[in-house]
Amino acid sequence: MTGRNVVIDGIDSKVVLNNGVELPYLGLGVYLLSSGYEANEALIYALEIGYRLIDTASYYGNEYDIGKAVRESSIPREQIIVTTKLWNSDHGYDNAIKAYNESLKTLGLDYIDLYLIHWPVEGLRQDSWRALEKLYEEGKCRAIGVSNYTIKHLQELLDQSKTVPAVNQVEFSPFLYQEELLKFCKEHGIQLEAYSPLTRGNKFSHKTVMRLAQKYQKTPAQILLRWALEHGVVVIPKSANEKRIWENANIFNFSLDENDMQLLNNLNENYRVSWDPTYIV
Ligand code: NDP
Repeated sequence: MTGRNVVIDGIDSKVVLNNGVELPYLGLGVYLLSSGYEANEALIYALEIGYRLIDTASYYGNEYDIGKAVRESSIPREQIIVTTKLWNSDHGYDNAIKAYNESLKTLGLDYIDLYLIHWPVEGLRQDSWRALEKLYEEGKCRAIGVSNYTIKHLQELLDQSKTVPAVNQVEFSPFLYQEELLKFCKEHGIQLEAYSPLTRGNKFSHKTVMRLAQKYQKTPAQILLRWALEHGVVVIPKSANEKRIWENANIFNFSLDENDMQLLNNLNENYRVSWDPTYIV
């Protein structure tokens, strides 16, 4: 029990999205996971120890490897959530449909579980969203959502569309505690997913993070991931290394107390490791 109205106590913990689809609270991010041996080994291991959500994108160049690992796994297809994303150069209604079909073909799967708009491309994102709505209506993806959307982008989408995105995937860590966006998403039934939840390791040696790691007998990575979970946010840390894939999953047997959550909340400094979407009109 987290004390913050969510129970997240096992690797199989899931949140129910606004359309009823269940999304695991923990996923494996695969950005910069090299296509071929590295991706294959990481995926096989992650699935073996209980990861059931994989976050790829056409931009990452490893959709083929993800699909292959999912197809070859002994885990039933319906138990694995595969996320992929529409890249910036594929925006617009027709282009988005085409890009979806290409991703599906590269993955070698029959459907995509969660299809996201990767970035709120100016002038075209609403046409792309209509394409995602169409794909969803046709049953070609189980859920649709967005990524890197600010409150402004979400409000525009809500005002102009009939489908509320199931997910908004954004950069989120104690050092980029997007409190208003999280509140907005909760109010509108949009699940927030944290990318770069580990700050790519850049903040592991921050003194507060180190102190809490010592206190809870956990690693800095586990403290950062647990903080996001306690906020009810799905995490998708990337690792190519078995030891760290395991470490990042070992976050369900402890809980941060209210004071320590507050200490971490207070670390916000709008620190980003990735692009800043707030300037996108
Ligand atoms: P993360 O914050 O997940 O950090 C990944 C880095 O941390 C890697 O270098 C990894 O190295 C290292 N690492 C992982 N676990 C540990 C650990 N326990 N201890 C020490 N180091 C560790 O960054 P990402 O940017 O990769 O974000 C995660 C995922 O989010 C991406 O892979 C992608 O799926 C998604 N994403 C989405 C974006 C979007 O625009 N929608 C943008 C950026 C990311 P190693 O592999 O050697 O373990």
